Amino acid sequence: MCGIIGYIGKNNALPKLIEGLKKLEYRGYDSAGIAYFHKNNIKIIKSVGRIQELEKKICFKEQSQLGIGHTRWATHGKVTEKNSHPHQVGKITIVHNGILENYQDLKKILQEKGYSFKSDTDTEVACAYIDYEYQKNPLHNMSEILKNCMNTFIGSYAIAIIVEEIPNQLFVMKKDSPLVIGLGTNEIYVASDISAFADKVSNYIILEDMEIGILTTNEYQIIKNGKRKMPTLKKIDTKNQSSDKKQFPHYMLKEIYEQSEKIQLWNTKYLNHIMELPDISKYKKIHIIGCGTAYHAGMIGKYLLEEYGNIEVNVFIASEYRYQKLFIDQNTLVIVVSQSGETADTLSCIKRVQQYKAHTLGIINTEDSSIARSVEKVIYTKAGQEVAVASTKAYTSQLYIFSMLAIRLGIINHNLTLAEIKNTYHQLPQKIKEVIHKNYDNLTSLLWNYNNIFYLGRNIDYVTMMEGSLKLKEISYIHSEAMPAGELKHGTISLMNEETCAIVMATKEELIPKTISNIKELKARGTKIVLLTLDNLTNSIEKECYDEVIWIPKMAPYVQPILNVIPLQIIAYNIAKKRGCDIDKPRNLAKSVTVE
Ligand code: GLU
Repeated sequence: MCGIIGYIGKNNALPKLIEGLKKLEYRGYDSAGIAYFHKNNIKIIKSVGRIQELEKKICFKEQSQLGIGHTRWATHGKVTEKNSHPHQVGKITIVHNGILENYQDLKKILQEKGYSFKSDTDTEVACAYIDYEYQKNPLHNMSEILKNCMNTFIGSYAIAIIVEEIPNQLFVMKKDSPLVIGLGTNEIYVASDISAFADKVSNYIILEDMEIGILTTNEYQIIKNGKRKMPTLKKIDTKNQSSDKKQFPHYMLKEIYEQSEKIQLWNTKYLNHIMELPDISKYKKIHIIGCGTAYHAGMIGKYLLEEYGNIEVNVFIASEYRYQKLFIDQNTLVIVVSQSGETADTLSCIKRVQQYKAHTLGIINTEDSSIARSVEKVIYTKAGQEVAVASTKAYTSQLYIFSMLAIRLGIINHNLTLAEIKNTYHQLPQKIKEVIHKNYDNLTSLLWNYNNIFYLGRNIDYVTMMEGSLKLKEISYIHSEAMPAGELKHGTISLMNEETCAIVMATKEELIPKTISNIKELKARGTKIVLLTLDNLTNSIEKECYDEVIWIPKMAPYVQPILNVIPLQIIAYNIAKKRGCDIDKPRNLAKSVTVE
């Protein structure tokens, strides 16, 4: 995953690199490093851990007009200083995001030519290979050198390069990993995403696959297949760039709270223009693809589209879909869901389905991201920048869009009236607030010390529990497992006893009696039960069924899943907080999964 940054310009590069890395830290945070020209020499500083650790090692009094930086999410080689970037071989110093798949073959070739390696990374091999091409090229023509490298490299990469003998140029090249170039006044930035420099420049360029950028303080050349091309300049939209934590202790909590005001924004943007959304009823087959939370949103989408659109929908995990046999054609719609718009597996699925001539629709948060640019149609989820690694508001924004697509069809199929629908969505922000402000203290005290927690539900509630379980795993490191409540007695109930605990969701009214029976089976074995159910049932559900309960306001089925996930987000947050976890940056994770 990782974030890369580069700077060339009139100002001191060192604070610029660190500031940029801090903004990119969500992409990876196991180690970090910078390389910069100082008095015509390249200096490299690296550190294991967060950017603050790196920052402590830097002398900001030093001046530099050209540098590169990296925040790593290790793929090849342990999290150590020697494996962290930048890597330097011969005259070449680089930072890299991605995976060089043929690095072992190239390493052998380079070793035979006399190169030796200090780290375990694929990146150092890429660096050595660039140096090898550089040494072979008498005029040191970087455009030719990098083109040769790209023709040799297999895999994904966004690479920023500085060259010892060229202290006034910054080079970049990319394939399948994102790279953007920010154009300021007498300064140019490169980064994995625009948030790294959005407040510093007004225009930017998205580097496309197999393109090279050659940058100086005030000039840029973009080269494709050896020819210069005029890139499209894009304007920075600063509205979407705010990442202030405000009064909240964590971004995650801020983003949980934001969900209620976001609904109002989405109502203006989508509810009021519902018939302008794509009509997906004309397709014979609908596939939804996503990873992690986006996959769960797709699963909710399936239930809603099937219910209100009367169309069969299948949902797939992107990393599986890309290798499975496909039966799709031009009558198929493939809906891809991604917060970052850079998810590597999802991106490669799009390329694959396009070969079958299937149509593509993206439900994406990050505008102008690689996925947004690859699909035929895109609906932006307008959740704003999500900083916490564990997704909350981006998930509800995806559910919101699926509910819109579904009820757009429901208006015709189910005789839903627009007035009734509008009324429901306008009530949603207030209901979200109500759920956020419920008292979770007893529940947190009950749950926080378990090592395993089961998440149970039936039908669409089961999908919500998959998301709840993922939230808990991500940020509290407690093992948990989501399961259809009816499936329990086919094996897993053997684990249940006085030492186990289950959170059960029962909000699909016609299935509540069945779920209650499952709860009783667990209670009979001593399992502690936290029940999440509808507030109109307070008098009908016996107290013996649960140890703790959260009553969720009952709403129309097409918005109920949006409301239902809120207590699960808060439960995960509270437990992680009580366990002293690093909530916004959980171990081993990164926000944007740009490797396969
Ligand atoms: N493959 C490189 C490494 O492990 C870069 C990984 C990344 O994109 O973070 O160092």
